[in-house]
Amino acid sequence: MLNIVLFGPPGAGKGTQSVHLVEAYGLVHLSTGDIFRSNIKGNTALGQKAQSFMDKGQLVPDDVTIRMLESEVNKHSDAKGFIFDGFPRTTAQAESLDAFLDARKTPVTCMLALEVEENELKRRLLARAETSGRPDDADPQVIQKRIDVYKAETAPVAGHYALQEKFTGIDGLGTIDEILDRLKAAIEH
Ligand code: AMP
Repeated sequence: MLNIVLFGPPGAGKGTQSVHLVEAYGLVHLSTGDIFRSNIKGNTALGQKAQSFMDKGQLVPDDVTIRMLESEVNKHSDAKGFIFDGFPRTTAQAESLDAFLDARKTPVTCMLALEVEENELKRRLLARAETSGRPDDADPQVIQKRIDVYKAETAPVAGHYALQEKFTGIDGLGTIDEILDRLKAAIEH
């Protein structure tokens, strides 16, 4: 099984590249942000719980997020592997994911971290707001909050996988194809 943690700050290109990696490797794409948004749209209890955090650019609590992610993985018992996009975002989530996947004997294969500097992230998110319809992309204060939360709570997750020698940094600037080639080279090396 190929289990990829696609990592990086908001606006780094995780969603865009996930689409191409799914096509290339036949993996199941699990984006916790997408799952929360579809629950908000469907007005489910989970969506109602997540919305206030997302609107403010804060993380949804770990217990809610971990439970949801595990139940999504369990829906795909025949998967060739997964792309985890936007998860894990805290060290507690990373530890839970490791325990969960180890118990299934399908551990994380690698973490690929898209690296993009902060001004470029802000530029991309504001541009994306024009078409994404995402309230959290349209408000510069919420964008700043998301970047600050990334630095404080999410960036340490890279260290978690570096300790396991699973971390690779990927230059996230360039065309979609150039970045995809870098990701594939890291996966296949
Ligand atoms: P994203 O689509 O990955 O940019 O995520 C959008 C928002 O969903 C984030 O700002 C968080 O509020 C929430 N979210 C997504 N994934 C997670 C996660 N792994 N842990 C906590 N909150 C999350």
